[in-house]
This record gives sequence, structure tokens and C-alpha cells, in this order.
Amino acid sequence: MIRSDIAFQKCISPACGATYEVGEALVACPRCGDLLDVAYDWNRARPPSSLEGFQQMWSQRHDPLRLSGVWRFLELLPFAKPSEVVTVGEGQTLLQQADLVAAYVGLQPGRLFLQYEGMNPSGSFKDNGMTAAFTHARQIGATRAACASTGNTSASLAMYCSVTRLMKGVIFIGSGKISYGKLSQALDFGALTVQIAGDFDDAMARVKEVSRDLGIYLVNSVNPFRLEGQKTIMYRVLEALRWEVPDWIVVPGGNLGNSSAFGKAFAELVELGLIRTAPRLAVINAAGADTLSELVQRRGVRWNGGAVDETPIAAYYQSLDQEQRKASTIASAIEINRPVNLRKCLRALEFCNGVVRHVTDQEILDAKAKVGAGGMGCEPASAASVAGARLLCDQGVIARGDRVVCILTGHQLKDPTATVAYHTTDQEQFNKTLGNRGVRRASFANRAVAVSNNLDEIVKAIRLYS
Ligand SMILES: *Cc1c(COP(=O)(O)O)cnc(C)c1O
Ligand SMILES: [Zn+2]
Repeated sequence: MIRSDIAFQKCISPACGATYEVGEALVACPRCGDLLDVAYDWNRARPPSSLEGFQQMWSQRHDPLRLSGVWRFLELLPFAKPSEVVTVGEGQTLLQQADLVAAYVGLQPGRLFLQYEGMNPSGSFKDNGMTAAFTHARQIGATRAACASTGNTSASLAMYCSVTRLMKGVIFIGSGKISYGKLSQALDFGALTVQIAGDFDDAMARVKEVSRDLGIYLVNSVNPFRLEGQKTIMYRVLEALRWEVPDWIVVPGGNLGNSSAFGKAFAELVELGLIRTAPRLAVINAAGADTLSELVQRRGVRWNGGAVDETPIAAYYQSLDQEQRKASTIASAIEINRPVNLRKCLRALEFCNGVVRHVTDQEILDAKAKVGAGGMGCEPASAASVAGARLLCDQGVIARGDRVVCILTGHQLKDPTATVAYHTTDQEQFNKTLGNRGVRRASFANRAVAVSNNLDEIVKAIRLYS
């Protein structure tokens, strides 16, 4: 088994705290069942003495380890040697100041930034984590990898399989729950795609059993190595802000891997003295998949230094089962009722003085239209961050002058069905895709204009509408 004298795995439960070698493939603590962190002995790891040094990496972009927006920060996730890293050039993402969207959110000009993680090779932030999981899988010699997915994890896994040829991918998806943009990627990349008669939460439960029984490497975000890669989203945000910590990071919450990774990134940067304080974290659920917001806002669940009161959590999950309530939202990437990283997210919320909110599908789609009209576009789940920022501004939690970064987790073209249905003039199409989700109107629709095939009519229409 491979060992590292710098990195190890550690149970997040302070009451347990068991540690394991990097060479083990684990998705839970064998002793107590809690989640695991990748942890480091920073005295041996020799972290950087300042963040500014990372800028110099840009002059070495011919080196794949410097080109990658994940691995140029290798010193902050030092569980692998440079020779072990698997990269396809992920993390070439962008932070954009978006004043039009800021006006919609209720922020002063220059205060809202959108972090475009949809620019990753497979079109979502998941590549940040997948490159780290593949690196670990290669370290331990895994030959098959599996995931349950609402779409983007499978697209990312399938892409890393097809490019690197290191592993064969097996993908579990719920039936009818995945957008065509994402499904088409998994099929095109050639992964084995298993469609389960159930939803994401069912697929997640089955894939855990299958990977345990068949010894397949699991790349869902219960895999602690994936979250190491996702920390770098925050490093790139800081880098784009010239290492000035913003006031707020706003992120959609599904399985809560991102929010957990962001909290860990900031906790480590503070521990290492590389930043003084963490930004506040806002995690945004969809109203139809609002477990985190229900537990934190309504039932008062907190990390509490690791002594989480599990009673209200168990009671809530039991009520979901009894009522056979399934997650339901147009934002399919966050259509999850049993977030696997719940406990890590609670820890992140405590460290970052975080808040949780939920937004309706109506608010998500309206925000998404604003992002499209005033930015580079995103998929529905991503727009939950912008809708959530707007809600928090409305409530006075975020101040108009705060510096706010919304994470746009996935590319605009991931779910064209939702976008076209929103902008359509065809009421039937609108109702079919959006109406049964409580979406009543397309507040910012940009309707296509129908004209006859006649020059005068076309000219007239352009004059009228432009
Ligand atoms: C996976 C995903 C999410 C949810 O992220 P978590 O880390 O699971 O909370 C949000 N948006 C998009 C586009 C995703 O693919
Ligand atoms: Zn444990």
C-alpha cells in the first residue's frame, strides 16, 4: 500500500478522529462510519509562505501541472507526487464582474462576481474534483470507477476515462432525471451507463453497495480526495481578486461537496496564515430539495464543534420516507434530498459563519435568465446561487456594498430544454417542462419573433423590436 509522510485520511468526528493511509480507498470511517478528510502534516508538507507566489505559475503554462487550475496549487493539496497527477487541463475558469446581474441581485456596481466553473473541459466544476479522484485512483491502482449522478459527475467521470484510459467508468443515473446535455456526454464518452428505476438518492444508495461489493473505485463526493480538488475553486477566486478575500461566497447546495470543500479550503488557509479571515458562506438549496435549509433554518441543526444533534436529522429523513417525498426541482443538479456531505457542510457553515436559504424554481429560472442576459450563462442549478444572493440582499443579510462571488457550477448548454422552454411562446411547451414545477411566468423571456418569409415583413419586425 502506498504511504505518504505528509498526507493521511482522518475521520471528521472529533470523538473518533481515526486516521488512515492515503493508500486506502475509503468513503467512510471504518471505525465509526463518519466522513473522512484528507489531512496533512503541514510541518512536513512545506506549504507556501504567501499566496502571491502562485501567480508565477502562469509563466510556466507549457507544464501541464502549471496549466491546470487545480494542480498549480499542488502545494495546498499535497497528497500526490507531481509524477502521479492525472490532469486533462481542468480549472481554466474565469471570474467575471457582472454589473447587470449585480443590479438584479441588489448589489452596487462592481460588487458582484460570477465564477464560471462551466468552462471546465466537461462543462462543470466536477472536473476539479475528478482530476483529484483520478490521481488518487492511479496512486492505488484502481481499474474501474463508478458514480451515481444527476448528470455532471457522470459527464466528468466519463470524460476522464475516455481521455486518460486509466479506468473503465460505470455510471448510475435515476430514470428521466438527467438533462440531455449531460446524458449525451456520458454516452458519447463511452461510459457504461446504468439507468435505475428511481431517483438520485436511490442511485447513490445502490452505487455505494455495488462499489463496495465489486471493489470499484467510487468518485462521488463522499470520496475525500475529490473535495481536495474542489478546494482550488476558492484559490482561483482569491487569485482573480488579487488575494483579497471577498465578503461572501454563494454556492448552490446539492450533495454539499462544494460547500464542504470551500470551508476546508478557507480553514486551511487561515491555519497556514495565508489569509486572515474566511469569507461568509451562503449555501442555496432549491425549494423542492431543501434538506439543508430545513435542518439548519427550521430545525436548528448545527455542527456544534462536532457534536451534531442527530435526532432532528433522523426524524426529518424518517418523515421523508413516510410521506414518500422525493426531491423535485428544475435544477436537476441539486435535486437531492439526502446530501451525503451534510456533516462536512455543517462544519463549513460553522467555520465560515455561513447561512442557508432555499429558492423556488421560479426564482432560479428568472435568475438564470438574468445571468444569460448579463453574463455568460449557466445551467439552472447554478443560478440558485444568484437567486439566493438576491434573496439575502432583500433580507439585508448581504449588504449592497458587500463583495459577493456567486459560483456558476455548470455550463449554459447543459440543459437547453429548460432554457428554451423558458423563452418559448409555445404555452404547451412551457407547461410541459416548467408548469408542473410551479413556474408561472417567464419574467425575463426573450421571445423569438415569428415573421413570414418576406423581406418587408422581416425589416418591419426588426424595426419594431430593436
Ligand atoms: C453537482 C452540481 C451541483 C451540486 O454541488 P454539490 O457539491 O453536490 O453541492 C450544483 N450545480 C451543478 C451544475 C452541479 O453539477
Ligand atoms: Zn471515525
